[in-house]
Amino acid sequence: MAIRLETYEAANQSPPYVGVDLYASDRPLQDAVAANGGGAEAPALSMFGRRWGAAEMLDRGREANENPPKLEIFDAKGFRLDVVEFHPAYHQLMAESIAAGLAASTWRDDATPALAPAQVTRAARFYMAAQVETGHLCPITMTHAAVAVLAAEPALVAKVMPKIMSRHYDPHFRPWSEKGGMTLGMGMTERQGGTDVRTNTTRAAPAGDGYAITGQKWFMSAPMCDAFLVLAQAPGGLSCFLMPRFRPDGSVNGVHFQRLKDKLGNRSNASSEVEFADAFAWRAGEEGRGVRTIIQMVQLTRLDCAIASAGIMRMALAQALHHARHRNVFQKHLADQPMMRAVLADLALEVEGATALVMRLCRAFDLAGGDPHEAARARLLTAAVKYAVCKTTPGFAYEAMECLGGNGYVEESMLPRLYREAPVNAIWEGSGNVMCLDVIRALGHDGEAARAVLGALANEAADLPGARDTARAVETALAAPDAEANARAAVGRLAQLAAAAAVRQSAPPEVAELFARTRLEARHGAMFGTSDVRAEEASRLLERALPPA
Ligand SMILES: Cc1cc2nc3c(=O)[nH]c(=O)nc-3n(C[C@H](O)[C@H](O)[C@H](O)COP(=O)(O)OP(=O)(O)OC[C@H]3O[C@@H](n4cnc5c(N)ncnc54)[C@H](O)[C@@H]3O)c2cc1C
Repeated sequence: MAIRLETYEAANQSPPYVGVDLYASDRPLQDAVAANGGGAEAPALSMFGRRWGAAEMLDRGREANENPPKLEIFDAKGFRLDVVEFHPAYHQLMAESIAAGLAASTWRDDATPALAPAQVTRAARFYMAAQVETGHLCPITMTHAAVAVLAAEPALVAKVMPKIMSRHYDPHFRPWSEKGGMTLGMGMTERQGGTDVRTNTTRAAPAGDGYAITGQKWFMSAPMCDAFLVLAQAPGGLSCFLMPRFRPDGSVNGVHFQRLKDKLGNRSNASSEVEFADAFAWRAGEEGRGVRTIIQMVQLTRLDCAIASAGIMRMALAQALHHARHRNVFQKHLADQPMMRAVLADLALEVEGATALVMRLCRAFDLAGGDPHEAARARLLTAAVKYAVCKTTPGFAYEAMECLGGNGYVEESMLPRLYREAPVNAIWEGSGNVMCLDVIRALGHDGEAARAVLGALANEAADLPGARDTARAVETALAAPDAEANARAAVGRLAQLAAAAAVRQSAPPEVAELFARTRLEARHGAMFGTSDVRAEEASRLLERALPPA
C-alpha cells in the first residue's frame, strides 16, 4: 500500500490562478471598453482573454524571464556577430502578440489611423497581455508607435508597412525584405543624457541615398529589431533616422552592441549599449526637426506605458484577491477579514480608476484625427496619465504582494516579477518629472485648448464630490509662476480628476461617487487600505473586480 505523507497535501493554499478568461472575469475592463466604443468586440476580446489567461501562456511569461537574453558579440573565430539570443518562450510571446495585432491593428496599410475603436480594442488586448508578460511588449509597442513617424515618408511607408501589417513574426537575423514580418526599435538616449536629447553627439553625414551614422546609444532596447528610429546630429541639426540592421545591398549594417544592461526587472527584454560605425540610415522627417518627428512615436509609447502599468496592477490585484478568497486565517477567509477587505477594496478602486482612465484616453486617440477637442485631450492627458498610473504601480504591486503573505515574496507567485517590472514604465519614455513638465508645456503652447479640456473634465465629473474644487486647484497651480515646483501635486490631481470623469462614464454611479469621495474630496493616503470605503461598497468593488468562484 502506498504511503501518503502529510507533505503531499497543501492545506489552506489557494489553487493556481490559471485558466482564467482575463476579459470576462474583469468587469471594470469590460465596462471601460464598452463605454469607449469597443463593446461589439467583446467575444473576440474574451477569446484573447482565455488564450492569455491559459496556464501555458503564464508559463511562457515565467520562462522568458527566468531565461534572459544573451548577447553574442563574436563567433568562435572572432568574427563579429552582434546578435542576441532569446529563449523560445520569448519568441512565442512575440508571435502571439504580433498575430493578435498588437503592433498593427490601429493602422491601415498606408500608415493612416484605423477607424475607432481601434485604439480602445488594441489597448484592451495590450492590457491583458501585460498581465502575463511585459518585457516582450517593449518591441511590440515600439513597432506600433514607430508607424506614426514613418507615416510622413511615403517611400518608407511602402517599404515597412506591408511587413508590419502582415502580423507575422520572424525572429531570423536577415534583411527585412527577405522576411514575412518586421519589428522596430528606437535609440534616443545617450550616455550624457536621455531627457535632454538635444545633447546627442551621434553624427549623421549625408551618404548616397541616405546617411552614415557614427556614435553611441546608452540604452537601445530590443536590439534584434529589424530597424531602429534613431536621433543624430545632421548638418541641419538633430534629426530622426530609420536605421536598418542590414544595408540596402544586403550586408550587415554598422550596428555594434557593447553589452546588455543588467536590469532590475524587464528581464525577458534585452536593452543594449550600442555603437554605430558608419551605419546606413534613411532620414525620417526634415533635418533639424528630429525631436518634433520622434515625439509622435513617443506619445504612443507613453500611452502604452500607462496601459501596461494598469495591466500589471490588474494582475497583482487578481492574484491578491484570488488568494485571499481561498486562504483561511482565524477561521475566516482572509478576504472576509475587515481590514484585509479594506485593503483589497482600495486596490480594486485604484484599478477601476486606472482602467477607465487609460481606456478613455485611448478613445481620445481614436477620435483625435477628426475632433480637435479630443486631440487636445490626448495632448494634455497622455503625460499626466503616464505619470500618475505608472508611478502608482510599484507601491500597488508591493501591497498586493503583502496580501499573499510569504507566498507573495516567492518567485513562483509571480508577484516578485510584477514588483520588479513596475518601476520601468515610469522611468523610460519620459520619467516622472519630465511628464509633469510636459503637462505644463501643453498648457503653455495651447492654453485655450488645454483649459477647455480641464473644463470638460470638470463638467463630466460635475456631480461627483470634490470635482469642481479639484479642477480649480489644478488650473490655478499649473498657471502659477512656481508651477514647476508644485507640478507633481497638480498633475497627480489632474489625473485623478480625469480618472473620476472616466469612471463616471463607464462604471456604475456609486463606484464613481466612491472614487471621487476617496480620491478627489479626500486625498488618498500613502498606504492602500486607508480610504473610507464602507462594507457594502467593498463587496461591490470586489465582485466587480473578480467574480467569486
Ligand atoms: C530598461 C530600460 C530600457 C530603455 N530602453 C530605451 C530605448 O530602447 N531607447 C532609448 O532611447 N532609451 C531607452 N531607455 C532610456 C530611458 O528612456 C531614459 O533612461 C530616460 O528617458 C531618462 O533619461 P536618463 O536616464 O538620461 O535620465 P536623466 O535625463 O538624467 O534624468 C534623471 C532624472 O531627472 C529628472 N529630470 C530631468 N529633467 C528634469 C527637470 N528639468 N526638472 C526636474 N527633473 C528632471 C528625470 O525625470 C529623471 O527622474 C531605457 C531605459 C531603461 C531603464
